[in-house]
Amino acid sequence: MSRQFRTGGQTLVRELNRSIILNQLRIGSPLSRADMAAITGLNKTTVSSLVDELIAHRFVREIGRNPSAGGRPAVLLELDPDAGCIVGAEFGVGYLNVLVTDFRAAIRWRRQVQYDTSEDQRRVMSKLVGLLRQAVRQSQNIGTRLLGMGISLTGLVDVASGTQIFAPNLGWHNVPVREVLNAKFDVPIFVDNDANAAALAERYLGAAQHLDDFVYVAGNVGIGIGIVLGGHIFQGTTGYAGEAGHTTLDLNGPLCMCGNHGCWERLASQRALIERVQKAIQEGQPSSICTSVKRLDRITIQMLVGAAKGGDAVALRALQETGVYLGVGIANLINIFNPSAIAFGGMLSLAEEFLMPVVRQVVLERAMKESREAAQILVSTFKSDACVMGGVALVLHDILSRPRLDLSLPSQRSDAPARQRFGRPSTRQVGPLS
Ligand SMILES: [Zn+2]
Repeated sequence: MSRQFRTGGQTLVRELNRSIILNQLRIGSPLSRADMAAITGLNKTTVSSLVDELIAHRFVREIGRNPSAGGRPAVLLELDPDAGCIVGAEFGVGYLNVLVTDFRAAIRWRRQVQYDTSEDQRRVMSKLVGLLRQAVRQSQNIGTRLLGMGISLTGLVDVASGTQIFAPNLGWHNVPVREVLNAKFDVPIFVDNDANAAALAERYLGAAQHLDDFVYVAGNVGIGIGIVLGGHIFQGTTGYAGEAGHTTLDLNGPLCMCGNHGCWERLASQRALIERVQKAIQEGQPSSICTSVKRLDRITIQMLVGAAKGGDAVALRALQETGVYLGVGIANLINIFNPSAIAFGGMLSLAEEFLMPVVRQVVLERAMKESREAAQILVSTFKSDACVMGGVALVLHDILSRPRLDLSLPSQRSDAPARQRFGRPSTRQVGPLS
């Protein structure tokens, strides 16, 4: 065995052990060094050495002693929220969502801007760049290092190159998102499909923590799913797994943006829900929604939920019908994957109080008993923020699964200047979850 090979192996083992320590603190803090040795099986000397290293690089901090422990009170540790900032972004259909969080994903700043889906893609990209510049300035004001940017994109995404291959709801092909951003920002940039990113957010930060087998369903303008199997995002042979929104539910259904007819998302997405309301109003059915909006194309899911709460028959019928199709698709997912949970998020989950009872009933009627009984149906912690928090989770995933110590240390001062250099490649794929 060559000396070079042995050194590389030791480096990898140390990186893996750092990952184990950080993830234990993510899940169960506060913990002492002895707690972590007991949980992980690593010896106490190794844990102490790793923890000292992580404290020196500001990923972990000491937060006092445990008064209830017998003998000498143990020093307790947790992830240091000031380890650095993370910029998360969601490239949605008609809107851009950007936020800045600390290392524990607490939101420190956020902005959303709308764009017209008929706008030139270069103009929309320059809007995204402008928003990301604002976010970077905010992280500079906070006065800590910027750990990375994560961007969740609608449609098919080539994770390796960071390219949006096809966005059916925008009609865009081959947009080199990461290449454009790499030319503007000197930080690690991670790009993935929005549903995959949102699934990671639920796994790291939300409703699906501690679950190894679940399917995240993102109900937005379209529907996408993120499949987590055995603790890993299932990418498919070429990285495009999870386009469940374009599976056929009705052979003779309405034309979808993908060119097919009767796709699941054409019948059960936010767009499908709003179209049902628009159609009913155009047919002359009375609805309280007409008093709150002049133009039918301005109807939002929030308006619709408000109307349903007031007993509006048009809104309630549209929610009922959409819930049935949503339930059929979710029953199919339960039959296919036998997951421990379905986590439902996206804009559509803002209507959970009306949709979920229908979904649960349809699943009861249509999913096979054995798989159905094993599957919880959860609502996303982040609801309409799931995809933008997914951007944050892409960065967190990278740090927590391969913590490297070549990042510059965060500044101690809140008025510190900020352009910092990072040595890490920005082409890493989303790999196994920790
Ligand atoms: Zn389709």
